[in-house]
Amino acid sequence: MPRPRTNIQRLSPYAPGEQPDTSAVTKLNTNENPYPPSPAVMEAVQSLPAERLRVYPPPLAQPFRAAAAELHGLSPDNVIATNGGDELLRLILTCYCEPAGGNAQGGIGVTDPTYSLYPVLAAIQDTPVVSTDRKDDFSLSPDTIECWNEAGCRVGMIVNPHAPTGRFETTDTLRKLSDNFGGLLLIDEAYTDFAPADAIELVRDGLDNVILLRSLSKGYGLAGLRFGYGLAHPVVITTLDKARDSYNTDAISQAAAVAAISDQAYAQQTRERVIAQRDLLTSELRRRGFEVLDSQTNFVLCTPPDKVPAADLYEQLKARNILVRYFDAPRLDDKLRITVGTPEQIDKLLNAISQLI
Ligand SMILES: *Cc1c(COP(=O)(O)O)cnc(C)c1O
Repeated sequence: MPRPRTNIQRLSPYAPGEQPDTSAVTKLNTNENPYPPSPAVMEAVQSLPAERLRVYPPPLAQPFRAAAAELHGLSPDNVIATNGGDELLRLILTCYCEPAGGNAQGGIGVTDPTYSLYPVLAAIQDTPVVSTDRKDDFSLSPDTIECWNEAGCRVGMIVNPHAPTGRFETTDTLRKLSDNFGGLLLIDEAYTDFAPADAIELVRDGLDNVILLRSLSKGYGLAGLRFGYGLAHPVVITTLDKARDSYNTDAISQAAAVAAISDQAYAQQTRERVIAQRDLLTSELRRRGFEVLDSQTNFVLCTPPDKVPAADLYEQLKARNILVRYFDAPRLDDKLRITVGTPEQIDKLLNAISQLI
C-alpha cells in the first residue's frame, strides 16, 4: 500500500454537520440562511452563454474582484476570490505556516472554542496549533497575543462575530490585537452580515498584517455555491494568489457571486428578517428557562434548563425531525447551537421544546 504522509495518516478529518437527504427535516444545524439567494443570482446562472463554459473562467475572477472592491470601498487588488471561505483558510495556512518537522514554532494561534476546521487544516499543513482559552463569557483572554507571539505563530485566527457563541468584538479590540501581533491576523467574518459592524476599516487603513474572510454561504444564502473571498493589503493578496489553483472559482460561481453581491437590497432584506427571528428565538428560549448568549450571528448558543442534558434534548429533537448542532467538546457539551430559521421553523422548534422540557 502506498504510504500517506504521517500527519495525514493520523488526521481526524473535519466533521461537517449532518446534511439529510430529505425536506422532511427542519434543518437548524449548519447555519445556512433560511432564505433562497436573490432572484438575480438564478437569472445570472440561467442566462450564462454556453460559450462561457467552453473557455476557462477569468483566472483572477476580475469581475468579482471589481464588484467586491466597489461594495467595500477598496481596490480590486485588495480582493481574492476563493472556492468558499474554507479555501481561503487553507491558502493562508499553505502560504504562511511552516510544516512542523519537529518544530513547535511557525503555526497558527486560535482561541478556544473556535471553528473546528482550523485545527484540521493545521494538521493537513502539519503546522502547530497554539490555543488560548476564551474567558468564561467567551471574550478574548488578555494574554492571547503574548501566547501567540511567544510561540512564533505566523497566523492568528479570530472568528468575529464569534462561532460558536455569537459574541462580537469591536474593531478597536481587533486593531489592538493586530498592533501587537507579530504574524498575520485572520479575522473570520463569515457571520458579519448579521453583525452591527465589520473590521473593513483595518484594510482601508492599509494594515499589512490583517486579512478578513468573507463568505457567501451565510449572509447571501449561497452555501451550495461554494464562494468566499478575502480582503487584505495587496502584498497579502499577491502572496495568496501565487499558491491557489489557476482557476479556483468557476465561470458559473463567478457569475452568481457577482449577481449576489450586486443585489444588496435583497441581501439586506433577508438579513433583517433573520435578525428579527434571532432576537425572537433568544427571548422565547429564555422564557423557557434556557440560558442564551446574546448573538450577533444567524445562530444562538444556548444551555437548556438544569434537568435537561443538552445531548438528550438534541436526540429528542432529532427524533422529531428537528436537527440542531451538539458539540461533544469541553465548555460546549452542555449547550446546543441552533441556526435561526424561518418563523415556521422556529415555531416548530419552540413547540417541540415546550413539549420536551
Ligand atoms: C461558514 C464559515 C466559514 C466559511 O464557510 P464557506 O461555506 O466555506 O464559505 C468560515 N468560517 C466560519 C467560522 C464559518 O462558520
